[in-house]
Order: sequence, then structure tokens, then C-alpha cells
Amino acid sequence: MPLLRIAGIASDSCVDGLGVRYTVFLQGCAHGCPGCHNPASHDYGSGEVMDSKTIFQDILSLKYIRGVTFSGGEPLDQAVALAPLMKDLRGQGYNIWIYTGYTFEEAAADSLMSVVVRLADVLVDGRFVRSKRTLTIPFIGSENQRVIDVQESLRQGKVQLFTPRIVWIGKQTPHFNSGLYY
Ligand code: SF4
Repeated sequence: MPLLRIAGIASDSCVDGLGVRYTVFLQGCAHGCPGCHNPASHDYGSGEVMDSKTIFQDILSLKYIRGVTFSGGEPLDQAVALAPLMKDLRGQGYNIWIYTGYTFEEAAADSLMSVVVRLADVLVDGRFVRSKRTLTIPFIGSENQRVIDVQESLRQGKVQLFTPRIVWIGKQTPHFNSGLYY
């Protein structure tokens, strides 16, 4: 399988999408958002090079994982190497999220990036804008960013936002439910 340059892996993340997820942080980003939360991920020459097959096998070995997130850095800048891994993950039924600094429209217009986007369930898109920073909206860092239901957007031919169902399992505590997690 192809090689990926990664900044790190979190094998039990609860903050990169719904549920407990395996998150791969890709190394390298040129968006240069002022106030970026992860400047160490910008350098395209840093991080660690890993065979995507190793990552795939690691995910398979973790039986509690049903969701995988690709974040960064900028994951779509490694679209060619990412596509085979994502195809294999979809083949195994994993739920896939991508965090990207590109907008959905920018990625859809690119022949390489669009291949990867079409393999995702959710795309959290857009650069981080410090003046629009939010700490209260789930899954995003600034209000210009969107949590997009990729497959529904492709079906309808226009961007459809992802709206997790909320399941009440106690008197006070809401839990988001994607159909896979609660
Ligand atoms: S896209 Fe993300 S990683 Fe890249 S500079 Fe912006 S906030 Fe940082």
C-alpha cells in the first residue's frame, strides 16, 4: 500500500467526530490559518512516514473502533495515498470523517481530492478563521466551517449538512447518534 506522512495517531479519540474513533493526523498543511491549533503539522517534511497497510491492520485489530477520522495537517494533500486506504476501510464498513481546510466545493473541483471526498461519510470543511472561532458548535473550530453529509450531498447534488440524531438516554444527558454510535 502507499506511504502516508503522518503527524500522529489517536486510537481512541472522542473529539474528532461521533463516537470513539481512530484518528490519523496527516502531516503537512499550506493553508496558514492564523491561530491554527496544530502548527507543528504544517511542515511537509516532518512527521513520520507509514505504510497505509500498517495503519489499516492496526485499525482492524481494535475491535471497539467503527469510525475513522483523517485530520491534519491537510489530509487531502495526500489524496493519492489516502484513497486506497479509504476504499479498504469502506469495504469493511467503517464510518469515515475527514477534517480539511479546503471547502467542499474546492475539493470537489479537484480530480484527486474529489476521489477521496466521495469515499467519506462526513467532511468538516473550511479553513480556521480566528474571528469566527467557536467553542460551542460541535465538531468545528470556527463558524465558517461546515459538517457535511457527503453521501447525501452527492445524492442531492448540493451540500447537505450532517445532522446527528439526538438520543436521550437519561434525564439530563443528550447523546448524538449517527446510527452507529450512541
Ligand atoms: S487547515 Fe487546519 S492544520 Fe491547516 S493551517 Fe488551517 S487550522 Fe491549521
